[in-house]
Amino acid sequence: MTGEAPCKLCYVIKPLCDSHVVPNFAAKIIKKDSPTGYFRMAGEPNVPKQSFPSFKMLCKDCEDKFGRLEHTFRNVIYVPYLERPNLPTEEQKRALFVKYGSWFRDYALSLAWRTAICHLDFKDLDTEKPYVADVVRKAASQWRSYLKGASIHPGKSQSRIWLIDLSMAEAIKDCGAAQHNWKLSSGFFAYLLRGCDFTVVYTTSESEIGVFTKLPGAIFWTTIIPSRIENESGFDIREKGTIDLLKHSFDNKLLEFLNSRVEEGMKLLDSGMSSVQREKMNERIKKAIGATPEKFEQAIDIRLKDLQLSLDDVTQVHEESPSVE
Ligand SMILES: [Zn+2]
Repeated sequence: MTGEAPCKLCYVIKPLCDSHVVPNFAAKIIKKDSPTGYFRMAGEPNVPKQSFPSFKMLCKDCEDKFGRLEHTFRNVIYVPYLERPNLPTEEQKRALFVKYGSWFRDYALSLAWRTAICHLDFKDLDTEKPYVADVVRKAASQWRSYLKGASIHPGKSQSRIWLIDLSMAEAIKDCGAAQHNWKLSSGFFAYLLRGCDFTVVYTTSESEIGVFTKLPGAIFWTTIIPSRIENESGFDIREKGTIDLLKHSFDNKLLEFLNSRVEEGMKLLDSGMSSVQREKMNERIKKAIGATPEKFEQAIDIRLKDLQLSLDDVTQVHEESPSVE
């Protein structure tokens, strides 16, 4: 039968599904309050999209296995976080202490594994960065045997999650740009709250290597080297435990990395989008928001927050400029 190939998780030769790295429920969230009903990929800005890119990666059985982890994450953590009340009562606060089992770590690892495989097998990490590719391949192989049930331990990697919404703008600003002398990109919040992204991350010296997967409002990071993150930022996903969906912390290094992703994405969009396409997109946005502004409240709030942040940034730079008398 055509279309059969070894599944990258179980290695059995079967017809392969169109697998996503970033779950498709994230695409639905973005589309829901997108004025045009579409979104754009930074590398292909002239083509409006309705779903994320997919890769021939998994057989139906393995796809279903990851689907169950995704479903649990969505129902137990993600949706309760996104839909929590603005001013929760004591009882509601208690309900936001969520107990989790091994599925949470498994889900984080499945995202890390998919991100790694995508860069190793469908992009060209081997040619670009042979040493990084080698390190990532070894880690991905360990994650694979754990995820397919052949080993009981996933290895030394640590997975963390950060959940983000608009109420965190101030906290993020406080530990980010202004204190550490870097400039917040325009579109930073739009990226945090609505952007999807996945990549292998490495420092210039290649002494730190990890894997990053981003959903709207949720960031996953899985370490490779070093195997532990030595700070209290985000939430450390263990084999089992309790996560407080109201408690969040960030660190400057993470924010600076996210900001660099925004800059890169913006550059790709700017250089790749034709003026005709940009004009068309702006027209569609204006028309849709003009017709039903209430439908896009969240999207507008995010834009306003970005605008306010960039204005604050300008003020900050101005205040810090040495005065010449
Ligand atoms: Zn399989």
